[in-house]
Amino acid sequence: MAFEGLTERLQNAIGKLRRKGKVSETDVKEVMREIRLALLEADVNFQVVKDFVKTVRQRAVGAEVLESLTPAQQIVKIVNDELTKVMGEEAVTLEKAPKIPTIIMMVGLQGAGKTTTLGKLALKLKKEQNARPLLIAGDIYRPAAIDQLKIIGQNIDVPVFSLGTDISPVEIVRQGLIQAKEKKNDYVLIDTAGRLQVDEKLMNELSEIKQLAEPNEILLTVDAMTGQNAVEVAKGFNEQLNVTGVVLTKLDGDTRGGAALSIRAVTGKPIKFIGQGEKMTDLDVFYPDRMSSRILGMGDMLTLIEKAQQDFDQKKATEMQEKMRENTFDFNDFIDQMAQVQKMGPMEDIIKMIPGMANNPALKNLKVDPKDIEHLKAIVFSMTEKEREDPDLLNPSRRRRIAAGSGRPVQDVNRMIKQFNQMKKMMGKVSKGNFSGMEGMLGN
Ligand code: GDP
Repeated sequence: MAFEGLTERLQNAIGKLRRKGKVSETDVKEVMREIRLALLEADVNFQVVKDFVKTVRQRAVGAEVLESLTPAQQIVKIVNDELTKVMGEEAVTLEKAPKIPTIIMMVGLQGAGKTTTLGKLALKLKKEQNARPLLIAGDIYRPAAIDQLKIIGQNIDVPVFSLGTDISPVEIVRQGLIQAKEKKNDYVLIDTAGRLQVDEKLMNELSEIKQLAEPNEILLTVDAMTGQNAVEVAKGFNEQLNVTGVVLTKLDGDTRGGAALSIRAVTGKPIKFIGQGEKMTDLDVFYPDRMSSRILGMGDMLTLIEKAQQDFDQKKATEMQEKMRENTFDFNDFIDQMAQVQKMGPMEDIIKMIPGMANNPALKNLKVDPKDIEHLKAIVFSMTEKEREDPDLLNPSRRRRIAAGSGRPVQDVNRMIKQFNQMKKMMGKVSKGNFSGMEGMLGN
C-alpha cells in the first residue's frame, strides 16, 4: 500500500501538537521542519516540498491555528487542503471527442505498464459507458508486445487491430483508424512503442503518430515505484508531446509516494488514473482529495464505498444493512460478508482505507492469509443451524464440539466468536454513521 512511511511521519509530526492546548510559532516551525523531512524522505520533488512547506507555514502561523483550541486539527486541515492542491484539486476526466471515435494514444517507457493500462482502460470504458473500443497494436519493436495486447484483448473481449511487425507504426495506426471508422468503434486506444529511456528516435515516431491520429488524449504511463525518475520521465515526454494526462501505475507497490505528489506540480499535467494492481480491474480515477486523505491516514471511505458498490451484490448489501439496523446479524451473515469482502481485494488493503486504520500499529505488516478465512468458514460450518442463528447458545461444551468438528483449536473458536461480537457491535455503530471503535474488529 502506498504512502505508509509518509503517513506515519506526518501523523507523528502533527500528533505532537495534540498534547498541547495552545501552540506557539516555534511549535509550528518545529512541525513544519518534520513535515518537510517527511516529504523529502517520501521522495517528493525538492521544489514541490519547498513551495508546499512555505504555503502551509504561512497559513499555520495565522490566527486560525495559533488561537485555536484544537491546533492539531487545524494543521491537519491545512495540510490536507494543500496536499490536495499540489495533486491538482479536482479529478480530471477523460476528454471525449464531439464525434466518434475518441482517440487515446498511450505512451510511456518500456515496463511502465502501458500495454496493461491500455487494457484496463478499455475494460473500464466498456463497463462504465458501454463503449465499443478498438485497440491498435502500434508497438512493433518489443518482442511479444503485439501478442500481449492480443491476449489482453481476448481477456476483456475487445478487438485488437494489428498488422504484425513489418509495417511502420504510423501506417498501422492509419489503417487501424480507418477500420475503427468503418466499424463505428467509439474509442480507439493506440499502444505505442516504449524504450528504456526517453530518446529522440522514439519521440519522433510518437510525434508522427500524434500528427496523423490527432488524439483527444495522449496519456503517459509512468511507474510510481521509480519515484523522482518517473517525474523526470513525465517532464521529458510532456516537453516533446504535450501530453494531456498521466497514468501512475504500480501505486500498490510504491510505499513512498513521491511521484504522486510531484507530477502535477512539476509538469502541470493532471494524473488522471492510478494503477493499483496487475488485474484488469485495478485502474481507478485519481481523486486528489481522496489521495490526500489517505496520505494523512484519514482513510478513504469514498473509494471503499465505491468498491463495495462495484463488487457487492446489491441485494445482499441491502439485506445486510437491514440486519445491521435490526441487530439480527448472525454467523450465516458473517460468512456471507467475508465472501463479499474477499471479492474486493486483499483484506489488508481494504482495512487501511477505513479512517484511522492506515497507521494503526496493530496493522503494521498485517497480512490476512486467505487460509485464515477458510479456517473461519470451517468453524462456522461446524456449528448447527441454531447456533449460527443464535450465537448466545455457544457455551464452552458447544465450543469444544465445534473445535473438534472443524479441526481448529478451541482458542480459535473463542477468538472468532469474540471477533464476531465485536464486528456486530461495530456494524451497529457504522449503520448509525459512527466510525470510531472500528479497531475492535481486529480482535486485539
Ligand atoms: P509496457 O512495457 O509499458 O507496455 O508495460 P506492461 O504493460 O507490459 O507492464 C509491465 C509489468 O507491470 C507487467 O508485469 C504488468 O502486470 C505490471 N503492471 C502494470 N500496471 C501495474 C500496476 O498498477 N500494479 C502492479 N503491481 N503491476 C502493474
